[in-house]
Order: sequence, then structure tokens, then C-alpha cells
Amino acid sequence: MSGLYIPIGTPDGSRTEHAENLLAPNPSLMTLDGTNTWLIGGDEVVVIDPGPDDESHLRRVQEHLGERRVTEILLTHGHFDHSGGAGRFARMVKAPVRALDPRHRLGEEGLADGDVVTVDGLEIHVYGTPGHSFDSLCFWLPQDLAMLTGDTILGRGTTIIARDGGLSDYLRTLDRLRAAAESLEARALLPGHGPVLADPIGALDGYIAHRRERLDQIRAAREQGARTPREIVRVVYADVDRSLWPAAEMSVLAQLDYLDRL
Ligand SMILES: [Zn+2]
Repeated sequence: MSGLYIPIGTPDGSRTEHAENLLAPNPSLMTLDGTNTWLIGGDEVVVIDPGPDDESHLRRVQEHLGERRVTEILLTHGHFDHSGGAGRFARMVKAPVRALDPRHRLGEEGLADGDVVTVDGLEIHVYGTPGHSFDSLCFWLPQDLAMLTGDTILGRGTTIIARDGGLSDYLRTLDRLRAAAESLEARALLPGHGPVLADPIGALDGYIAHRRERLDQIRAAREQGARTPREIVRVVYADVDRSLWPAAEMSVLAQLDYLDRL
């Protein structure tokens, strides 16, 4: 049976049949345990998100690959904790970098919704999933019944809507991923940070419910007189670690923008 993974304490080394994660050493409140660098394939490998420009991590990935050739490097999106090491890694393994945003590509080929990348007889189906950022992509591995989700879905907690993202896009993306997970019978979500999620529908329903709940809370906070994003964060994100409030403020801005357009 494909799609199985071995749950261990840390995301490092978590895997499905044809995907394996090497965790970058950049833990933080925003990046959780660090950035997940996913290796997909067999004798030939596609590397998804080399992570930040951390030479020790990139060397570890290269050593782990041994004789296996990297055919392509793909990015789930352009944020630095995923893409920063892509240029250096591309030179190390002599492979192109493909991303939705042309600024993050190295080589001729782009990457967009509907593309199918093949490696070692495996298929990687590209889903355009804007929201967390405008250029976010997810990657479906039909042979493993697994979806790589980048920062669109994280292994723990919830994601933020970055300045270059948008909430209406994000809500559409969540609905699309939920429908895909159901029709494709997905068995695992492989996130850009945090552990593998073994209940895709449950995780997506949780994200969708969380978004609706936050929107309701923001409406209520406004009705009670909170005006600025900061005032709203103080009410709505009271339960969240204060060091995350600047990020929460960004999410509130995205939500206000969304509500004001309804
Ligand atoms: Zn990230």
C-alpha cells in the first residue's frame, strides 16, 4: 500500500514511499521545527524547497543523495526560508530551479497550475494555490497519494497570509485542496514546516473552520470598537504568543481587506 509514512518525533526523516524530508536547521516561531526539504524520486530525484541559504544543510542534502542525480529543483513559493538556498544548491547539483515567480527561476522552465513534472517514472502534479503568497504551489504525488503543501498548510498550527498573499485567494485554495483531497483520496499532507499530516480532510476542514472563526472574531472585535489592526490583534489573538503578534497583524490586515470587499 502506498502513501504510508513513518511518524517519528521530528519532521526530519519523515517520508512516504517516494518522498523523504530533510529538515533545515532554521527553527523559529514562524518556521516551526525549520523548513522541510522534500526529496522526491528514486535513482533520479526532484528536490522541493532547498530551504534557506545554509551551506551545512545543502551539503547534508547533497551527501544524502549520494550518486542519485537531481533533475530539477522546485519551489513551493519564493519566501526566503524555502528559496534562499536554491541558487547555491542549483550550482552544487547542476540542476535548474523552477518556480511560479520568474524571479526565483534558474533556467528556462517555469512552473504553473496543471504542469506535470516527471522523475524516475513518478509524476508530480502542480496545483496553483495562491493565498499564503501569490506564488504558492502545491504538488500532488499520485503514486503516494500525498500532497506537498508548502506553507499553504503547515504540520502544526495555522499559516499566515503574507503581504504578497490574499485571503479570498486563500479561502478558494482551501476549498480546492479539500475537494482534491476528497476526490483523489489523499492519505497524507507533506507540509513545508512541521510533521506530516495523516488526515488530509480533517486538517483541511480544521483550516477552513479556523479561518471562518477568525473572521467572525474580527467582525465581533470591530463591533466592540477595536479599530486598528493592532487593537484587533490584542483582542482576537490574546491567546497567541506575543512574538507572533506582528505576523498576526499581517493576517488581520488581510482579513480586514477581505471583509471590506465583501
Ligand atoms: Zn516557510
